[in-house]
Amino acid sequence: MACFNPIAENLETVRVDIKTAAQKAGRDPAEITLVAVSKFHPRSAVLAALAAGATSFGENRVQEAAEKFPVPGAKLHIIGNLQTNKAAQAVQLADAIDSLDRFSLADAIDRAAQRAGRLPDLLVQVNIGDEPQKSGIPTADSEHFIRAMRARFGTALKGLMCIPPADLDPTPFFYKLASMADTHGLPIRSMGMSGDYEIAIAAGATHIRIGTAIFGQRPATSLPPT
Ligand SMILES: *Cc1c(COP(=O)(O)O)cnc(C)c1O
Repeated sequence: MACFNPIAENLETVRVDIKTAAQKAGRDPAEITLVAVSKFHPRSAVLAALAAGATSFGENRVQEAAEKFPVPGAKLHIIGNLQTNKAAQAVQLADAIDSLDRFSLADAIDRAAQRAGRLPDLLVQVNIGDEPQKSGIPTADSEHFIRAMRARFGTALKGLMCIPPADLDPTPFFYKLASMADTHGLPIRSMGMSGDYEIAIAAGATHIRIGTAIFGQRPATSLPPT
């Protein structure tokens, strides 16, 4: 029998760090939603985090998410590059899709939402560093794309998400995303992961997506965030 579960302890550490980072930035910690990224970890890890007070979870593959969710009391965010042919399943399962980044995916989500009679919250993922290998709408196209998504999905479009380049100081990228969200009057800025969430909070993150710092290392075979 497991008598020691590091997940609760890790969560508490992250919570304290969020609070400290928020206070340092003159922000209310209650404005910041922690999305616990449970990809590659079993449903039991989700339940452990839920028991320790986590309420929002992130998964980057719909198939894997469907093996663990729904979990009563847990909100599910799809945070990874979403294939068009998985959009229908994502629409049924998720409370939020954080990786809307192209018109073909918007079409698939729209069709699936009509059929399912439900539409998750949507975030546009911006390829904030314009990296060729990364998902997200290129920054040059983002203005037009965000306007089009707003026109199409109305208030279901809640905000923007980004993953800055891994090898650069993320600060200017976070500020850029926050400013784009401001320009469009969008309330949510999902930015910051285990290695940089304190910086993201200083730059105005409303949602941070934390995997490793809560659940520990993922298997070496897991793919980096795209
Ligand atoms: C895996 C992943 C995360 C969490 O990364 P950690 O460094 O483990 O906190 C956040 N966002 C996205 C999009 C991811 O794929």
